[in-house]
Amino acid sequence: MQTIVTKSNAIHFNETCYISLNDYLDTNNFSMIMVLVDENTRALCLPRFHEHIKIKKPLEIIEIQGGESYKTIETCNSLWRRFSKLGADRKSLLINLGGGVITDLGGFVASTFKRGIEYINIPTTLLSMVDASVGGKTGVDLDNLKNQIGVINSGEMVLIDTSYLDTLPKEQIRSGMAEMLKHGLIRDEDYWQRMKEYIEKGPSSQIDNLIRDSVIIKDEIVTKDPFERNIRKTLNFGHTLGHAIESYFLENKDKKDLLHGEAIAIGMIMECYLSHVLLDFPLEKLNNIVQLFSKVYTPITIQSRDHEHILNLLKHDKKNEYGNVNFVLLNDIGDYKIDCKVDNELIIKAFQFYDECFESA
Ligand code: NAD
Repeated sequence: MQTIVTKSNAIHFNETCYISLNDYLDTNNFSMIMVLVDENTRALCLPRFHEHIKIKKPLEIIEIQGGESYKTIETCNSLWRRFSKLGADRKSLLINLGGGVITDLGGFVASTFKRGIEYINIPTTLLSMVDASVGGKTGVDLDNLKNQIGVINSGEMVLIDTSYLDTLPKEQIRSGMAEMLKHGLIRDEDYWQRMKEYIEKGPSSQIDNLIRDSVIIKDEIVTKDPFERNIRKTLNFGHTLGHAIESYFLENKDKKDLLHGEAIAIGMIMECYLSHVLLDFPLEKLNNIVQLFSKVYTPITIQSRDHEHILNLLKHDKKNEYGNVNFVLLNDIGDYKIDCKVDNELIIKAFQFYDECFESA
C-alpha cells in the first residue's frame, strides 16, 4: 500500500514499513535506540519487530505496564529517569511499539526529554493505527481526566503493519472501529457506507484499505488545522460525552472500565441525537447509525444517578472555552458544526435516548 506523505512525516504501510525504517536507521547515526513496549506488545509484537529490523546496535527495550491507568505523569517520570540512567542524549531515538497508550505516552516523553528527542510510532492496535499514532497529539491523563497534559509533536514516521492486528483481541478491534466510523460520520458519507458494508458483511481483507483511508481522512483534517482552531475539532465528535463517560467509568470501581472506543460509540450515538434535535440531522440516518452501532457494541447501562456526575466531568473537556462546553454536532453525515452549546436538560434527554434505543435493539 502506498505511503502517505503528510506535512510533518511519512506514514508507511505493511511491506514498505521495515524498508523505510531500516533505511532511516542506516542514514541516521543514533546514539541509542530505545523501544517502548507494554507487557502485551513485548510478548506479541516485539518478536515480529525484531525479525524485520536490521541493525547491529543493541536495542534498549523498555517495558511499562499497559493500560490507560498507567498513562500518567508518574509513568513519564519513571521513563525520563530510565532514559537518563541509560545515558540517552539528544541523538537518541525512541520507537513506540504499542497501542494508543504507548504512542501517546511515548510521544510525550520523547517530546519533552532534553527538550525533545526523535521518535517513531509503530501502532499495534486498530485504534492507534487509524487515530492515536497520527496527527502528533501526545500526552497523559491527570488523575481520571483524560489527556489533560501534553504537547502536539508528530514523530519522524509512522509504520502501520496490519499484521500486528492478528493477535489483537476482538473487543480491541471493535474499539478501534469506533474511530473509523467517526471518520465517516464527520467527513465522508461514502467512507461511512463502506464501513457499514464491512460490518454487515463480516471481516475481509478490505480492512487494510479502510485503515489507510481512515488515516487519510484524519491526516487531511490535521493538516488543515494542526492546532485545533477549527476543523480539527470535528475529530472530537462523540468524544465530548464519550470522554466524560469513559472517565466516570474509570474512576468508579463498581463500574467496569470501558474501552475508549466503547465510550466514544456511546458519545457518538448521543451526539447524533443532539444533532437531530438541534440541527435537524435526518432521523432516518440517526436510526441507521444506532442500528449499525448495535451490531458492534454491547449496550452499556448508564443509570440516571450517574448523569449528574458525568455532566460534572464535562466541565473539564479540552474544547471548553470561557467555561462553556463546546460540542461538535452534525447537520448531516460529513457536514459538521463546531462550537455548539447544549444545555444540561437536553444532554439528559440524550442519555434517555441512548437507554431507550438499546432497550429495543
Ligand atoms: P492501549 O494502548 O491500552 O491498547 C489496548 C490493549 O491492547 C493493551 O492491553 C495492549 O497491551 C494491547 N495490545 C496492543 N497491541 C496488541 C497486539 N497487537 N496484540 C495483542 N494485544 C495488543 O489502548 P488503545 O485502544 O490502543 O489506545 C487508547 C489510547 O489512545 C487512549 O489513551 C486514548 O486517549 C488514546 N488516543 C489518542 C489519540 C491521539 O490523537 N493522540 C487519538 C485517539 C485515542
